[in-house]
Amino acid sequence: MSIDLESFLAARGYRMMRPNALEGAALAEFNSCLDQFREWAEAHAAFRNPEIKVVTVFLNSSEANAFAFTEADVIGVNWGLIVKIRELLGQVFDPMNFSWIPEDRRAAAKEWLYESAKFFFFWHEMGHIWNGHTRLAKTAGLAAIDELGATSMGSLSSKDFQTLEMDADSFGATQICSMARRFPFPVKNSILENEQGDGATSLAMLAFSSYLVFSMFGREMRLEEQESWDHPSAPLRQLAITGTISTKAVQMGWFNIDQASYLTQIGTQVAEDAYRSAFKEDPVSEDLAETFNPAFSSEGANYLSGLLEHWKLLRPVLDQLKPGGVLPAVQDFADG
Ligand SMILES: [Zn+2]
Repeated sequence: MSIDLESFLAARGYRMMRPNALEGAALAEFNSCLDQFREWAEAHAAFRNPEIKVVTVFLNSSEANAFAFTEADVIGVNWGLIVKIRELLGQVFDPMNFSWIPEDRRAAAKEWLYESAKFFFFWHEMGHIWNGHTRLAKTAGLAAIDELGATSMGSLSSKDFQTLEMDADSFGATQICSMARRFPFPVKNSILENEQGDGATSLAMLAFSSYLVFSMFGREMRLEEQESWDHPSAPLRQLAITGTISTKAVQMGWFNIDQASYLTQIGTQVAEDAYRSAFKEDPVSEDLAETFNPAFSSEGANYLSGLLEHWKLLRPVLDQLKPGGVLPAVQDFADG
């Protein structure tokens, strides 16, 4: 399908980002991001359903947000999201926390973290399309799935939305896990690699970037308010995403469950420590995950179990709406 993107977006109240608003490194990044998105969207469609042409466009907004539209397979990523991910990494990726990374590899290391965080969001939006969410939202009368949740619900409940978000997070986490295996972190942490095996640094750093980036969406988990939100709160998503990364690493035959859990926990904890140090929060006092992320408590785990139960109800509906057919179980939400 060919659409006039500019008017498609304008009709829905969004403005396309124009490359001529940028210059230098930002312009190069704008173009290379879109090229990369296009290449991956085509590669994914090639084996799922070549008829599906997902178009990604940058939107002119400084808010860290992204959208999956329902009336065409269009992903809109606010340019502000890209800027904010870079800013956050610039603030948090401090030499003090990464003394094992030699000076001459720091730029490459930071770029890898940035890319993995950025592409998580792209693949999350792709999950909304390929897992049937946008088609479900369309039947519910919605124009787009909005990542900051300021959307009307149509005929979907907040639990439906939260479950879709978890499903898209799982899709995104699965994809970046495969990426991290194909494109390893540019420096090996010799202690981790010797202890846990080849690729240990990549897995830990993947957990680092995925966990870190959600810190910018809020630090609190208020389960009593959560019920009415469109999205699970950031700590719950951090828990679910790092958990999916760990599960996926095992399914790929990369690590066993103990190693994968250990490595994702290390990455998570380093991210939390680095964030606290950058933003002058109190340091983590003990090395137990529950002490720094409330979602790691039994309440958090129970909440996620509730969403998983709900997903089982939604799944038969979604399966009918998946434009690329149903993938084998290994690709599914929190499978295993
Ligand atoms: Zn989403």
